[in-house]
Amino acid sequence: ATPTALMVGTGRGAQLGILIKGPEVLETTRRADTIVLDKTGTVTTGKMTLLAVHTADGTDENDVLRLAGAVEHSSEHPIAQAVAAGAVERLGGATLPAPESFANVPGLGVQGVVDGHAVLVGREKLLAEWEIRLPAELARAKAESESAGRTAITVAWDGEARAVLEVADAVKDTSAEAVRRLRALGLTPILLTGDNRAVADAVAREVGIDEVYAEVMPEDKVDVVKRLQAEGRSVAMVGDGVNDAAALAQADLGLAMGTGTDAAIEAGDLTLVRGDLRAAADAIRLARRTLSTIR
Ligand code: ADP
Ligand code: MG
Repeated sequence: ATPTALMVGTGRGAQLGILIKGPEVLETTRRADTIVLDKTGTVTTGKMTLLAVHTADGTDENDVLRLAGAVEHSSEHPIAQAVAAGAVERLGGATLPAPESFANVPGLGVQGVVDGHAVLVGREKLLAEWEIRLPAELARAKAESESAGRTAITVAWDGEARAVLEVADAVKDTSAEAVRRLRALGLTPILLTGDNRAVADAVAREVGIDEVYAEVMPEDKVDVVKRLQAEGRSVAMVGDGVNDAAALAQADLGLAMGTGTDAAIEAGDLTLVRGDLRAAADAIRLARRTLSTIR
């Protein structure tokens, strides 16, 4: 009877949009008491839009759009796509130059050479690594956009900070309900993100999460999971990005968004095919029901 019940559980999962890697996954699913949620692409849609451009005194907005847009055009990060698309639109459909060189700086941003200028686009921390400081007008623009719950991206070239870009994405309309259902099942939800504290707190508030880890570097996400496990918790982690793969593998139960990257899907034990967080609650309910049938 045991294998049959497990197979039924796995089959029912597929109907609910949950792909389970093997029947043994149901046991860890049942046991989870804590659920760590990645923000971008998991709780939010990950489809970002460029909302505003704040330039430093003496900087031309078109130069910002052209240089930042060109570097971001080479990156697949959701923020990069928003910046590149927004730049093309604001430049009236102009073609962006191809960078002479380009590199991703994981968790921080991108760097590249465009039209002979060394360009940095990303967190203020990325600029700080090159000892570039924000002038007062940009520091103010950054603080204001972050307190409004937006992600502020800084732009520098040739050793000087030139602009702050405001980008934002929307919370998925299913996320708040998913968090409510997870709580009703007795799980503690935790938000985990590389994004800044103000944005993370705004999203957490919107979906009903009280515990937030913000400004966490990609390689440190796994340590957050380990720390929770060291407290004796059974940790489920939901993520979509390359940045989440190690944490998904470390978690007692890794749930990958089916809409996310292959790296996340490979690292997970379970895939939420439709990218709907409510399926995480369905998976836990299903595992508990299937296993109680067996016992
Ligand atoms: P998350 O954990 O929310 O999925 P990431 O770890 O991918 O976020 O990125 C963390 C932060 O690094 C972003 O919020 C952004 O500020 C910055 N960043 C990362 N990649 C880029 C990029 N290509 N362009 C601009 N900023 C970036
Ligand atoms: Mg993500």
